[in-house]
Amino acid sequence: MRRITLLLLLLALIAAACSSDEPAATTAVTTTPPAPATTVAPTTTLPPEPPAPWWEGRVFYEVFVRSFQDSDGDGIGDLRGLIDRLDYLNDGDPTTTDDLGVTGIWLMPIMSSPSYHGYDVTDYRKVNFQYGTNEDFLELMDAAQERGIAVIVDLVLNHTSRQHKWFARSFLEQDGYDDWYVWDDREPGAGWHAAGDRTYFGLFWEGMPDLNLENPDVTAELYDIADFWLNEMGVDGFRLDAVKHFIEDEPQIENTPATLAWAQAFNEFTEEAKTGALTVGEVWNDSRIVSTYIPDALDLAFEFTLASEIIDAAQSGRSDTLPIVMQTVLDEYPLGQYSPFLTNHDQDRVASVLVGDASKGKLAASLLLTIPGVPFMYYGEEIGMRGRKPDELIRTPMPWDATEAGGFTTVEPWQPFDPNKDEVNVAAQIDDPDSLLSHYRSLIQLRSASSALRIGEMTLVDTGNNSVFAFTRESADQRLLVVINLNKQPQSEYGLPEITAIGEQLYGADWTLGAELPGRSTTIVELGAS
Ligand code: CA
Repeated sequence: MRRITLLLLLLALIAAACSSDEPAATTAVTTTPPAPATTVAPTTTLPPEPPAPWWEGRVFYEVFVRSFQDSDGDGIGDLRGLIDRLDYLNDGDPTTTDDLGVTGIWLMPIMSSPSYHGYDVTDYRKVNFQYGTNEDFLELMDAAQERGIAVIVDLVLNHTSRQHKWFARSFLEQDGYDDWYVWDDREPGAGWHAAGDRTYFGLFWEGMPDLNLENPDVTAELYDIADFWLNEMGVDGFRLDAVKHFIEDEPQIENTPATLAWAQAFNEFTEEAKTGALTVGEVWNDSRIVSTYIPDALDLAFEFTLASEIIDAAQSGRSDTLPIVMQTVLDEYPLGQYSPFLTNHDQDRVASVLVGDASKGKLAASLLLTIPGVPFMYYGEEIGMRGRKPDELIRTPMPWDATEAGGFTTVEPWQPFDPNKDEVNVAAQIDDPDSLLSHYRSLIQLRSASSALRIGEMTLVDTGNNSVFAFTRESADQRLLVVINLNKQPQSEYGLPEITAIGEQLYGADWTLGAELPGRSTTIVELGAS
């Protein structure tokens, strides 16, 4: 989509050069004024940078609606419950600091589905009745917009529910739906499931048959669904599920050229349907593969490799391979055009991996929220909510307080709370300045206020100490030094080459250049203007 914008700007510049008394193309005028004819740049100079995308500098929060807040006493979280809790995420008032301050939310699937998780959709244009109605969703959009919170929704394009009416028609070879799924006459096994005397492909589960994305009718229908959510429901974009599996080309079943091409065409379609529509994709692979999707096939992608490196560093107290992995990420992606995270709804919760040690949790949060990219948090991560697989146990209800119903509902919740609820809940941390929640809140607010943390270049600093991970962040008007002591013990033996003077301290205990770093600490200082 950046390419399209650049093209429009180029066209606008050419138009301005050819005829200075006529306005340039309308689309470009709204974003960048046309250059006066007398100052049109020589052909060797690039046109001006397109405006930054709206999602740059945002912090997103992944919400499982079923587990966030129940509003009607059935033990199941719903959209009205989420609306009631939006002020916790961001109250929209920049003068208050008791909200988390996130500026985007990702809703796990909210469309009609027979399962609790919703990744097997039966109606793409209808909100799951347990979560509310399409009208409730429109109210959520309004309430989020008032608070400056963007909303993206999970969109599952790789497969549907086996109970979707499309699959029944395809099975019966009716109404032109014959080729909507991937049928064959081979024996069942390895992703192939029996249906009548044929088999169909369903990579994840027999209940989730893969759509045939090579069928133009399927593609057209999915475009129409995307258009519906962008323009009728008002979403700001999509989290795209299972992107690498879109189109198999046996024996290659992941990241095929056809998959990248389909994703690119879809990304271009969403941008045409709604300017600025965000696509953030799940491509669960190494950075070098994931980055091939950026920026054409996806606007952003989750950085799985970096996520596990961050958690390993917080867990072990050593940076080990973190600098190498971080540098690879910096080298492979356009600056900041990926999404760091710690864990998501498919992984053991970070607080369980870190065995509930909040000081380690703070280190992981510090890394997540000071590096480049558009960070995503998983609900409850900010309070150290725990959970290990099976999946239901990493998606338990949000513990708002220590009461029996946890502030989540008034009845028995759809799934029991994590057993640590009495100690690990929002009420226990919200007024404690030393809590994990306060740490998240402070760092998110600092990031939102700091251009260097939001969009600045990152340069790793070799400290000569495996426990001390340090780097600079530099934007046009701000230069910061971030020093993170991963070790439980204070560290005084470390170097900060090329850092000669520091200015204001923005985060952490009082520190002067070269002074001892407290154990498991985060220090952020401003450096002189460069
Ligand atoms: Ca409910």
